[in-house]
Amino acid sequence: MRPRRFFVETWGCQMNELDSQRMAGQLMEQGLLPTREASEADVILLNSCSVRDKAEHKVYSRLGQYRQFKRERDDVLIGLCGCVAEQEGRRALDRVPDLDFVLGTARVGELTEVIARRRAGERPVATGFTDRGHYAIDAISRHGEYKGMVTLIEGCDKKCTFCIVPRTRGPEISRPLREVLHEVRHLVDYGFREIELLGQTVNHWREPGGKEDFADLLDAVARIDGVERLRFVTSYPRDFTPRMVDQFAVHDNLCPYLHLPVQSGSNRILRLMGRGYTVETYRELVASLREARPELALSTDLIVGFPGETEEDFQATKKMAADLRFSSFYAFKYSPRPGTAAPHLPDPVDDVTASRRLQELFALQEPIQQELNERLVGTEQDVLVTGWGKEPGVQSGRTVCHRVVHFASGEHPVTTGEITRVAIDRALPHSLLGSRLDAHRQACAQ
Ligand code: SF4
Repeated sequence: MRPRRFFVETWGCQMNELDSQRMAGQLMEQGLLPTREASEADVILLNSCSVRDKAEHKVYSRLGQYRQFKRERDDVLIGLCGCVAEQEGRRALDRVPDLDFVLGTARVGELTEVIARRRAGERPVATGFTDRGHYAIDAISRHGEYKGMVTLIEGCDKKCTFCIVPRTRGPEISRPLREVLHEVRHLVDYGFREIELLGQTVNHWREPGGKEDFADLLDAVARIDGVERLRFVTSYPRDFTPRMVDQFAVHDNLCPYLHLPVQSGSNRILRLMGRGYTVETYRELVASLREARPELALSTDLIVGFPGETEEDFQATKKMAADLRFSSFYAFKYSPRPGTAAPHLPDPVDDVTASRRLQELFALQEPIQQELNERLVGTEQDVLVTGWGKEPGVQSGRTVCHRVVHFASGEHPVTTGEITRVAIDRALPHSLLGSRLDAHRQACAQ
């Protein structure tokens, strides 16, 4: 008999990646095997993201493509999961007759039950945040992953005026410290060398009913034997405390890399975005982080074309990016999202202006990245292997400061998730090219 298989397509952030691993774990418990081909799958899941505009449109078009597999075999199940599922709910079933079920972000742990309900003839919609339970760590499939991701905090209580996440991921809930430490130990025992702590505002973690904050948690996780690399994402600038900053000076295994979204270099726009900090406090925070860990590589998110953004506001963003010299950034044109406040603000920025600003930012950033990467040429780096590059025989990985490195695998490729020593030979704006050496540790000098 042909083994039953599943296919999961994941869009969006690390939270979605981990949710996909959780869903894969539940399907594997039912005896299904993963496949890379949707055409071979008995269960097809689309784990969607709704952070940008046109997300729903893209989801419906992808679901339309999956429908052909149902025509070939009518027992194939198609499920819509993730943020668009949470947002669309029953509407998705109405719009796509071949869609079998909808599974929201807080109901990932119910996949097995939802599939059983579908097999019994129902077309289930499991969305909403009322019945949020803890999930079983054993049901997560981490096969083929290079890092162990651990959720610290789910949802978000902030009210950034451009962001749909509080609506699609619900209110903030922190997991108990004991549970987090248990999961990290489990991942280390399993063989993961890098641990990544996740949350929409990960540094807002608090022990439920207790006093410990994110600085205490970082300290406790960094002290676990076998945690060679520790990262966390995504941090909220206003929630950083001096004790959290100190952890970068105390723990060598806390990677010298931080993603710290600033969104704009103009205080007026930050106010309209509802971010609750100023450019000055952000700059002070960056200075204290760089003092604690001079080699820290810093990345950020930037939005251009936010309603009301003038040329002066945009120039302030460019100046901040030029001064702070981010190791990389994710810059986007503002995208109005349903149910958020920003689309009601006056003075929208036209698309041509927003596109031009975006291009100006990229043009500013490229030589900065090239120059920062050039500094690593001639050094040796420990590279955690993440997979294969596009060229045959080329493997890829990440330095401790999160830069992408490509190197020839040689006769004996490195297993994904292992660390190898690489001499950096050449820098490009978005990656480094190197040659494999033996494995020793060396801090990543920026
Ligand atoms: S902090 Fe702001 S941008 Fe981040 S998820 Fe929450 S609302 Fe969205």
